[in-house]
Amino acid sequence: MPTPGFEPSANVARLRESATIAVSQRAKALRAAGRAILDLGAGEPDFDTPAPIRESAKAAIDGGATRYTATQGTAELRAAIAAKASRRRGETIGPDEIVVSSGSKQSLFNACYCLFGPGDEVLVPTPAWTSYYEMVSLARATPVAVHGSPDHGFRVTPAMIERHATNRTRGLMLNSPVNPTGTVYSGAELRELLALAAARGWWVISDEIYLRIVYGGPAASSLDVAPARERLVVVDGVAKAFAMTGWRIGWSVAPPELTRAMTAFQSHTTFSASAPSQAAALAAVTGGPELDAAVAQMVARFRERRDAAMAILATEPAITLAPPEGAFYLFLRAPGAGRVRDAGTAFASLLLERFDVAVVPGAAFETPDWIRVSYATERAAVEEASRRIVAAYHEASRGL
Ligand code: GLU
Repeated sequence: MPTPGFEPSANVARLRESATIAVSQRAKALRAAGRAILDLGAGEPDFDTPAPIRESAKAAIDGGATRYTATQGTAELRAAIAAKASRRRGETIGPDEIVVSSGSKQSLFNACYCLFGPGDEVLVPTPAWTSYYEMVSLARATPVAVHGSPDHGFRVTPAMIERHATNRTRGLMLNSPVNPTGTVYSGAELRELLALAAARGWWVISDEIYLRIVYGGPAASSLDVAPARERLVVVDGVAKAFAMTGWRIGWSVAPPELTRAMTAFQSHTTFSASAPSQAAALAAVTGGPELDAAVAQMVARFRERRDAAMAILATEPAITLAPPEGAFYLFLRAPGAGRVRDAGTAFASLLLERFDVAVVPGAAFETPDWIRVSYATERAAVEEASRRIVAAYHEASRGL
């Protein structure tokens, strides 16, 4: 007799829920229950989407953008994305190389699913965003963590990557600015990694969702420095730079054959992304000075919060942190690191339960001795939470 109830399929038997999402949902639940939680878990800008983008979406709805679009995305949005990518690359990239999706997360998953399968290994510079490991695993391939050194912002080098390569290696996940460390790879560093991948025939998936959120000059895109595009997938979206997380629009720039496979795949899973959201994304991508100024202003606010948090954290010299040059995360070593197991999870629990501060344990990023702090929230909350992190650090250190 089969046992009644749910038995997970082999596809999801080892799937773990996204820790980045779980933390912010727990923070929301605790708030709803009356606790004044400071949520530094979610990687979600607290700003409103800029007005011109909102207006475009409203006009689009009234103009009839209420139906399915082409699976691949509207012709206008794909043309705008392709034109922007072409300018960046200095060669023509066509709309047949773009698939618009319901968020860069979907594009990353589509790419992993269409490129990798059983027996394949995919190199993941680590720490990395929690979902890369799960997406590769959902494609039944094996994620291989390549740990960078904290002394160099956890950057990985071609030599480190080579040490983890085998004859089953099929792909490399790149991400700059990096979630969770805020590290930004220079153009030269990125070029070396891409050159290695090209020489070995590996696919590269380059997640560039934080590209515009940088504090020391523009960040390099793989489109700027890749020796070739035959095996390159660049993923981007509007969520982070334009404060459009809820609109759910991302896209991929990839060779036409892969783009066709990803489109076919998406035609069976979600079909087209939301039509009004695509109109909003078109306004964001085509931009103009007003929107550039809005993005620059948000980045300036992130920078102020980063500096304020770092100044407070620096009052405790024992706190080690990877200085962030982009994105909106601080990654810091938990007390007891190297001495107690999974020090990051213990510290994150202490922060939440005793200090009402939500952060993401480093285990989510395959780096268990650390925690990730998001400063994409208002400055007063970032400052107060930083003070509590210092206090919690003292308390935890005393108990060790
Ligand atoms: N990417 C953001 C984060 O890392 C949002 C949540 C998620 O999709 O993981 O917090």
